Amino acid sequence: MPRTIAVIGGGAAGVIVSAHLLRAASASRPVSVLLVDPAETPGRGLPYRTTDPRHTLNAVVARLSAFDDDPEHLLRWCAAAGVPAEPGTFLQRADFGRYLTELLPSVPAPDGSSVRHVRGTVVDAEDLAGGADGAAAADGGDGPGVVLTLADGGTLRADAAVLALGMPPPVPLPEYEPWGERYVADPWSPDLDARAAGARRVLVVGTGLTTLDVVAHLHPLLPGARFTAVSRGGVLPAAHAADLLPPAVEVELDGELTLAGALDVVRNRADAERAARRDWRAVIDAVRPQVNPAWARLTQEERATFQREHSRSWENVRHRMSHAMRTHIDELIAAGVLTVGTVAEVRGGAQWDTGAFDLVVGATGLPPLTSPGWNPVVDALLARGLIRPHGLGTGLDLTPEAALVDAAGVAHPRLRAMGLARRGLEWECTSVPDLRRQAAALADDLLGAQLGAPASASA
Ligand SMILES: Cc1cc2nc3c(=O)[nH]c(=O)nc-3n(C[C@H](O)[C@H](O)[C@H](O)COP(=O)(O)OP(=O)(O)OC[C@H]3O[C@@H](n4cnc5c(N)ncnc54)[C@H](O)[C@@H]3O)c2cc1C
Repeated sequence: MPRTIAVIGGGAAGVIVSAHLLRAASASRPVSVLLVDPAETPGRGLPYRTTDPRHTLNAVVARLSAFDDDPEHLLRWCAAAGVPAEPGTFLQRADFGRYLTELLPSVPAPDGSSVRHVRGTVVDAEDLAGGADGAAAADGGDGPGVVLTLADGGTLRADAAVLALGMPPPVPLPEYEPWGERYVADPWSPDLDARAAGARRVLVVGTGLTTLDVVAHLHPLLPGARFTAVSRGGVLPAAHAADLLPPAVEVELDGELTLAGALDVVRNRADAERAARRDWRAVIDAVRPQVNPAWARLTQEERATFQREHSRSWENVRHRMSHAMRTHIDELIAAGVLTVGTVAEVRGGAQWDTGAFDLVVGATGLPPLTSPGWNPVVDALLARGLIRPHGLGTGLDLTPEAALVDAAGVAHPRLRAMGLARRGLEWECTSVPDLRRQAAALADDLLGAQLGAPASASA
């Protein structure tokens, strides 16, 4: 009998882990994947359902294959699909979405293995603990396993489940609530265009990549409109160089380093590259794969310090806009269409009066995954006490194997998590290279000999 793995959420993380499960399966260890997502075709998730050609990926084709061991997979798909691309191309997100929707049919299923898309929304999940060894019943019957409830009342039973839920919308900003219909709290809300219609003065709260997407998207829809983007730091993300793949440099974060030591290594090396008129971005790219191992060595206090004091500047250099977006944004700023800064800079310290803008769009950072109300299965898992927030706030408390740790500190090896849920266990956890790494490890683990019964999580 194949092992049944339910994947909750069919965005990038969901289809990538499903593909990895198929690849890790064999005739002797078959898998039956149930991929649950409300979309007609899984794959696009939140970021890749856009059709706006200005919405491009923020990394090049060479870096975004679904498989670590096949870095040219995406490039070959582009050639076959007629999407013009070279290793250094920033694809449109819509094209990458198509790649993801076509990923599963392209992976051969070993004898006895399959992936089935179950169209629906999971509203509850239960971990039915079984015998002492935690082995699931081979017939998928009443033994240990996971039971998912769907919004239409149907249920699914599996040996294990992976939460691949994506991320909540930005936290609503209470100071703009009184602006009523003129305040759009979620920049990805499908009614953004309709609510923006006719706006002449648009305030975007946030100055990260989402803000650039919002401005680039609304600018052609609102001819003559002026945009103001504000944040605490008032700084836009860095841009990729025109030379898209700078020559690699070697930077090593030594195993003994403290947080302060690691930050010094990165800053000093980036300064040295700049001084030598080379590209500082190569330093960030060299450090990036070492971030999670370094994170694992930090103390909890150092992690909290990084999140509080350094994460914004790291994200600004780490998640960069494409060179084309930089050129576009520079043009908008030069033409006076877009103003960027802190509230104090833009308004000389004064608060906005409600008549100053026709539209306010929230584009602030990542809210906690346990935020109430954005996702029914999160609410249900919280109510059951099956999840609890990570101490740093954004992700979930997880074991090193990404198994959920419940409110009583008990780990549930049959319930695993991907993506933003891992923030805290890891720092880098949401972009495609992170997802494919998580997926490969999960696939091996979930198809391994025993899934294990719930047990006390180690500290
Ligand atoms: C605007 C934007 C641009 C980005 N650009 C890049 C980029 O260029 N490169 C990069 O590497 N990363 C990028 N990222 C990071 C991004 O987080 C990942 O690439 C990826 O989309 C994360 O995948 P995910 O599956 O976790 O979330 P999503 O892709 O959002 O998918 C989550 C899916 O789960 C489904 N779902 C949620 N709850 C349930 C439920 N209860 N039941 C059933 N289904 C459910 C949702 O409907 C959705 O389809 C971007 C992120 C954003 C927001």
